[in-house]
Amino acid sequence: MIPVLITIDLETAMDHVLSEQSEIVVRVFNDFSELGIVTTSFVTSEFAERFSVQIQNTICSTNEYGLHGRDHSVRENYCRMTREEIESNIHASNEIVSEITQSEICCFRGPFMSTSSITQQVLIDKNIRADYSVCSQRFDFINSRGGNLSWLISPRTVYHPSIENPYRRGELPLWVIPLSCIGIPFISGIMYIFGLSFMKYFFRLLLAESLKNGKPIVYLFHTYEFSEPVNQANQVPADSRKSLIHSLYIRDRKKRYEMNLDLIKYMMSFDEVQLFKNSDYLKHIELIM
Ligand SMILES: [Zn+2]
Repeated sequence: MIPVLITIDLETAMDHVLSEQSEIVVRVFNDFSELGIVTTSFVTSEFAERFSVQIQNTICSTNEYGLHGRDHSVRENYCRMTREEIESNIHASNEIVSEITQSEICCFRGPFMSTSSITQQVLIDKNIRADYSVCSQRFDFINSRGGNLSWLISPRTVYHPSIENPYRRGELPLWVIPLSCIGIPFISGIMYIFGLSFMKYFFRLLLAESLKNGKPIVYLFHTYEFSEPVNQANQVPADSRKSLIHSLYIRDRKKRYEMNLDLIKYMMSFDEVQLFKNSDYLKHIELIM
């Protein structure tokens, strides 16, 4: 059996139409729970507060909420923040997200895939048991603000990190669950550039590897990708604009959503594949490792 984790990042994109972002969250979770698509959704406390009604309307057994930090601003980069900033951010955002989602949060992904040793120690103090911020063997690490040269040498499969280095194996009682990458990350943006057939091929490569080593396959998309961008670029603060790579993406938002549904259904069509949300996956690995 090959575990597949469909992960969704929920952050407000100030350069996309806000009203659409709120409608889309409801639509995604309604559609997904109807189709039996199991997900783990990393949400910023800013998004959870802004769209608290929508979030509360989407609470369902097929989705688990994780923490995506406070507001995803450029300053919220866990590779660079001080211990005081990290503690205050994680403490405050964890309380807000737990309350709004009416759940105990037990996983984290830093904005821009950022993390650090201090962050991981703070996560453990908060009873958060898994960090999804590492992108092992992602060569375009410069395209992510939280990107790190150590991604090239970090373990490909699930591991306990070392106390000094989040990208090395060690003894910390936390699981690092890396995003699937083979040079490029297994994320929706790649599909919007290279197409659905390419992503299916990418998935088959990951599946072949997992059949040998049991590694989970972790996929990522954002809900704001299905909302229209704000036209007047000068209305959007410079640090909220997305990177230039986004200009290569297929423009049709409806098509993007359909591509994600098609890709996920394709993954589910393999007999070996089982979708997991974070807490069930942790139970699974703790049984076998
Ligand atoms: Zn994010």
